[in-house]
Amino acid sequence: MIVLTQLHLEPQTGAALTIAAGELLRIIDPLGEQVSDLVSFARDDTSEWLSSGRTIDYANTIYLTTGHTLYSNRSRAMWTIAEDTVGRHDFLLTPCSPDTFRILYGFAGNHPSCFENLAMSLAQFGIAPNAIPTTLNVFMNVEIAPSGELRIRAPRSRAGDYLLLRAEMDMIVGVTACSAELSNNGTFKPIDVELLSSEQPRDGGAIRASV
Ligand SMILES: [Zn+2]
Repeated sequence: MIVLTQLHLEPQTGAALTIAAGELLRIIDPLGEQVSDLVSFARDDTSEWLSSGRTIDYANTIYLTTGHTLYSNRSRAMWTIAEDTVGRHDFLLTPCSPDTFRILYGFAGNHPSCFENLAMSLAQFGIAPNAIPTTLNVFMNVEIAPSGELRIRAPRSRAGDYLLLRAEMDMIVGVTACSAELSNNGTFKPIDVELLSSEQPRDGGAIRASV
């Protein structure tokens, strides 16, 4: 595979990028125990977005991993999970937001959040904050007790672990290094993102890097 673009997300930040059908996105946890929230929208119509509900319906599991398809709200395939070195991610919970910190944790002051970082990053593509759906919370470890109670545990990811997604349509993607204390075992770390072409590198010349 050929690396087309590399992004380094500093702790508690976000970014947005575009991806073409057939390209791949690798979300890397460089230090371990760090969550990354991800959303995506169809490039030609941003009212089509990555849907937690549709994806869980069709996968018939909340534990999504290698081989699963991630669907849009219009039931079209958006992503396929090509590789997953962790095997535990969350697609139930919304991105952390100022309201999350206020309602759940009683936090009154300003607090960085995935929701705000996604809203800022996606604004350049004309996507409004209200259009941001439930995020795929890469590396987030949510346990479900028999009672139904949710328990947020430390991510199972270790340094260098990654999730590799193949784009099934042209999309706009928002991605973060999560800002919530509880989701990241109490510390904030960076996230690395690679946009990859599935083509094999040719000999010599113009290719920046290959993996
Ligand atoms: Zn977050």
